[in-house]
Amino acid sequence: MSEHTRPSFVRGIFAGQIHAPLLFPFPPTLDERDPAEARVVRRLIATLHAMRADGLIDPAAFDETETIPEPVIKAFADAGLLGLTIPKQYGGLGLSATAYARVFGAVAAVDASLGVLIGVHCGLGSKAIVLFGNEDQKARYLPMLARGETLAAYALTEPDIGSDAQNIKTTATLNDQGDHWVLNGRKFWIGNGQRAGVIATFAQTIVMRKGEPVRRPTAFIIRPDMPGFSVVGTFRKMGIRGSTQAELSYENLQVPTDHVLGQVGKGFNVAVNVLNGGRLSLGAGCVAGTRRILGELATYAEHREQFGHPLAHYEITQRKLSSLASDLYAGEAMLGAISAAVDYADSDYSLEAACLKVFCSDLVWRSADEMVQVAGGRGFVKPYPYERYLRDARIHRIFEGANEILRLFIALNGVQGPAERLREVSKAIKAPLRNLGLVSGYMSSRMASMLGGTPDLGVPVHEALADHVRYFEKHVAELHTETERAITKYRRELPERQLVVERLANMAIDLYATAATIARTQRLIEQRGAEAVAHEIALADLFCVTAGRRFREHRLALSGREDEVDDTRRRIATAMRNASGYVVDDVVLTDTATPAHPPTARTTPEPARR
Ligand SMILES: Cc1cc2nc3c(=O)[nH]c(=O)nc-3n(C[C@H](O)[C@H](O)[C@H](O)COP(=O)(O)OP(=O)(O)OC[C@H]3O[C@@H](n4cnc5c(N)ncnc54)[C@H](O)[C@@H]3O)c2cc1C
Repeated sequence: MSEHTRPSFVRGIFAGQIHAPLLFPFPPTLDERDPAEARVVRRLIATLHAMRADGLIDPAAFDETETIPEPVIKAFADAGLLGLTIPKQYGGLGLSATAYARVFGAVAAVDASLGVLIGVHCGLGSKAIVLFGNEDQKARYLPMLARGETLAAYALTEPDIGSDAQNIKTTATLNDQGDHWVLNGRKFWIGNGQRAGVIATFAQTIVMRKGEPVRRPTAFIIRPDMPGFSVVGTFRKMGIRGSTQAELSYENLQVPTDHVLGQVGKGFNVAVNVLNGGRLSLGAGCVAGTRRILGELATYAEHREQFGHPLAHYEITQRKLSSLASDLYAGEAMLGAISAAVDYADSDYSLEAACLKVFCSDLVWRSADEMVQVAGGRGFVKPYPYERYLRDARIHRIFEGANEILRLFIALNGVQGPAERLREVSKAIKAPLRNLGLVSGYMSSRMASMLGGTPDLGVPVHEALADHVRYFEKHVAELHTETERAITKYRRELPERQLVVERLANMAIDLYATAATIARTQRLIEQRGAEAVAHEIALADLFCVTAGRRFREHRLALSGREDEVDDTRRRIATAMRNASGYVVDDVVLTDTATPAHPPTARTTPEPARR
């Protein structure tokens, strides 16, 4: 199989196919694979921690002042932390995906705002040029970005277009001389947008497809000194306040033709590929952030005494600790597997990265929420950092693909393989999939995911994991059955049946996490012996059991009478839509009810800017 056809594990399980070699043996650690790169990673993380210890990095101050001061960015540049993803030949560190995930995670764990600044610069803006820039563009822009002379940004979102990125409204037309593109439009929430010197952006262009003119996004590199560019203002936010997001205006913005990134009309491909990588690093940030929060949660619960015992003594606290820790163990397993897969070959990892992003962004949010709860009143007030953790954690479920959209993306992609046999269904799925960011080049992987896998794992595992493997195999078969049932039952309506699609996605996410967890634990047992890793086996146990329960709940919903409950859900939602809110005839709180101000397109205020 060529490296481009390395299949997707997640696509495979929708078809009842387990591609065990993609996860077994679980990849060795970076230290084992590349000790020299691991040393670079340790050096970078040590530098970062020194900046924190010196007080240069001050998360509370970043939050209060809503900015990250220039000296911090300068120190990051000096340490090479702005060239993490830029190849060495252009002055960067050219880190592997695994190494970048580790460094990025460390940055995000120290301060989420810094994580966003670095993620946008290294993982989105610079990365767009690394992946799609031509030689001239790379030589011109990457060295300055690696040196940190300026920051990079990535400007896709617009006031009216967020998740539906394929349909951005910004336009680009070629001028009469044919030497400049003229861009018109607005971009919203653009990280680093107010200080970036290099911005990867997107606009609709007219291209010919099958002899007809059609609108297709094109990617461009723009600079703030190009005529027609302006920063309208920056936004005030709930969390990650140290990072800054700007509104950008393009008014007849003059962009030379040699600043097209990739091919004209192929900009969505650029956007999607960059965001796939972004989701991997976002997952890394959430994993590292959760790990940090769990350290603080365990410490706090040990030191705070009520009713004569530390909070950690009580079983409810222990449930919180153990559940979050076992989920973190699974999140780490997915991260390790995906980042190594990216390093080994040009894999189709878009679904796996989406699983990681959804799972870990939900996890960091729950961790921060439990941190606040365990800290009680201190969780809610300053100067304790816990309320900030909660505020900072919230955005991860929204940006780089809102979790609802990513669940649709995972399941509709997964369903696509098995749906090939029913032309009407595969056709009906194609349009929403294209909008969600399916890259047609993944066709080969889709086919590969249908072939070569087996219904069984086919890998010997330690007896401590044997039951989990049996359930995993059973559940993969059940996911396939439910996928087939959904295809046959809903046919071309399937993309509209989001509750069904969402359940399939949740099942697949838990199955992928379970497989990665088993693979990771098996490797640890092989390396150190079962006794030495009893704690890790316990984490794996707890995760596999709870993920299995969630799986069964979704399966029962799909195969049982949940359709009727879904009908009830739809009926209630319809009544609420008609009434613009909660409505019952028997109103208990008539007099005290606050009149609703439905946020319509007309009444929704523009977000606050500075
Ligand atoms: C702090 C911050 C930083 C950001 N940084 C950047 C950046 O650097 N560059 C950039 O380009 N963008 C950036 N964004 C934009 C971000 O990626 C978008 O906010 C995100 O994609 C969601 O778009 P939206 O806000 O317009 O929400 P919408 O698309 O309006 O979605 C709102 C909600 O509806 C749900 N929804 C939407 N469509 C459907 C559907 N078909 N079915 C079911 N549910 C649906 C979504 O899941 C979401 O929960 C940033 C945003 C924020 C807040």
